[in-house]
Amino acid sequence: MKSFRIAIDGPSGAGKSTVAKAVAKKLGFIQVDTGAMYRSIGLYIYNNGVDPDDAAAVTARLPEINIDLGFTEDGQRIYLNGEDVSEKIRQNVISLYASKVSAIPEVRAFLLGLQRKVASEHNVVMDGRDIGTVILPDAELKIFQTASNKERAKRRYDELTAKGQKVSLEDIRAEMEQRDYNDSHRAEAPCVPADDAVVIDNSNITIEENVEIIALLYEMRK
Ligand code: C5P
Repeated sequence: MKSFRIAIDGPSGAGKSTVAKAVAKKLGFIQVDTGAMYRSIGLYIYNNGVDPDDAAAVTARLPEINIDLGFTEDGQRIYLNGEDVSEKIRQNVISLYASKVSAIPEVRAFLLGLQRKVASEHNVVMDGRDIGTVILPDAELKIFQTASNKERAKRRYDELTAKGQKVSLEDIRAEMEQRDYNDSHRAEAPCVPADDAVVIDNSNITIEENVEIIALLYEMRK
C-alpha cells in the first residue's frame, strides 16, 4: 500500500504539533514531529557541553547519536540512545540549541533518512519546517500553518508557564522571532511554504476548526 502523507510546516508556536496530533488521531495516521528530532540532537549537544555554533564539533558527535521513535495514542515518543527524552527536549534552552544545530547540513542529512523511512512505512502527518519542500516534496497534501507573532508568543508562553518554567512574555517573543528569523533565512532548507502548500493562518480560528479544514482537504484528495 502506498502511504498518504500530510506535511505540515510553519514557524514555531503555530500549533503544528497540536494540530498534527489531532489530525493523526482523527484519520488513524501516525504523527511524526520532526522538531523533536532536532531537539534531541540539541539536547545531546547541550548535555555534552559542545558549542552548537561549531558545525565541525557538532558533526563529529553525530555517530554517537541514535534516535528512535515510538507511536502512541497520545502522539510520538522520542528516544535518544535508548532514553525517553520526550519531556526533556521541551526545556526552553533546548529550543535555541535545536535551532542552531538544525542549520548544519550534516545534521539535516543525518535525520532525512529516518524521516523518509517512517513516511514510506505509514500514513503520516509529519510536521516541521521543510517537510513539504525537502523531505516529502511529493506529499499528497501540504499545509503551511501560521499565526500572528503576538498570538504565537502568547501560546508558547502559556505552554511553558503551564509546565512551571519561569519565563517572561517579552523574552519569549524576542527568542521566538530570533529563532524564526534563523529558520527562515538559513541557506539549508529554510522554513518557507512549498509552492503547492495550502496556507492556514490560525490566529482567529480554533484548533478544532483547523483540524477540520485539514480533514476536509484530505477527503478531497484521498
Ligand atoms: O518545531 P520545534 O519548535 O520543536 O523545532 C525546534 C527547532 O528545530 C526549530 O526552531 C527549527 O530550527 C528546527 N527544525 C528544523 N526542521 C524541521 C523541524 C524543526 O529545522 N523539520
